Amino acid sequence: MAETLLHAEDLGKTYGTIARTVALKDVSFDLQAGEFASIIGQSGSGKSTLLNLIGLLDTPTTGRVVLNGHDTAAANRRQRAALRNDFIGFVFQFHYLLPEFSVLENVLMPGRIAGVSTADLRPRAEEVLRLLGLEGLEGKGANDLSGGQKQRVAIARALMNRPALVLADEPTGNLDTANTKAVYQLFRELNGELGTAFMIVTHDRSVAQQTDRILEIRDGRLLQDVRNSYVRAGLQGEAELDEELRPAAEGEPAPTV
Ligand code: ADP
Repeated sequence: MAETLLHAEDLGKTYGTIARTVALKDVSFDLQAGEFASIIGQSGSGKSTLLNLIGLLDTPTTGRVVLNGHDTAAANRRQRAALRNDFIGFVFQFHYLLPEFSVLENVLMPGRIAGVSTADLRPRAEEVLRLLGLEGLEGKGANDLSGGQKQRVAIARALMNRPALVLADEPTGNLDTANTKAVYQLFRELNGELGTAFMIVTHDRSVAQQTDRILEIRDGRLLQDVRNSYVRAGLQGEAELDEELRPAAEGEPAPTV
């Protein structure tokens, strides 16, 4: 049986005390280990708020997040940081690389800050850089990379702690079509090879349809939560229907039997 990696229960978030914005309301779902899912919705619908809550970057106003069996409701800031570090990797639209540092240093940095020695980090760094097709670029300055390469370095950095879950917030929002495709392909490969679960926030339905499960947020609520095989089957059904119902064009020769 698949194991539950993330349990989100009645999550709600209200910002502000005087001018109150209800950004999220009663959102519940479970994510199994190794799932490849997306969160879709229009701008302002609450996607980033949800991602911040399940990534333990922010605390909910109501409800709770259970991460790999750890109920985080009562966790303090330090405990939340430790859980984040143990289980989650983040990829953002803007990569937040340190421009003055090399590719390798950028990938090593979070581990170094956590007090791990470079000697201990290095084999893993080399492994993830190879996995992401960045070998040979270790010594290059982050500023000298293309947009697509920078995002690959950011993904490599997110994988350094072997996260069970990668949370990505519009990870390709800043990339062209070719690099967007490459990044999603890479996510898929990592999902297949390492069993890493993904939750990818996007406002782009065509991107969401490349994932196995789509959680759609509207006005802060979970509008639907569908397995993408159903979505695909639905679309295919529609296409077939279109074909059947399409009236023959005038003057078109009658089909030969
Ligand atoms: P999305 O990621 O779908 O664009 P967000 O989660 O960023 O949506 O925002 C949901 C709602 O919450 C919006 O109305 C937004 O203006 C509001 N919001 C987000 N962050 C804050 C904040 N820190 N303070 C106040 N309101 C916020």
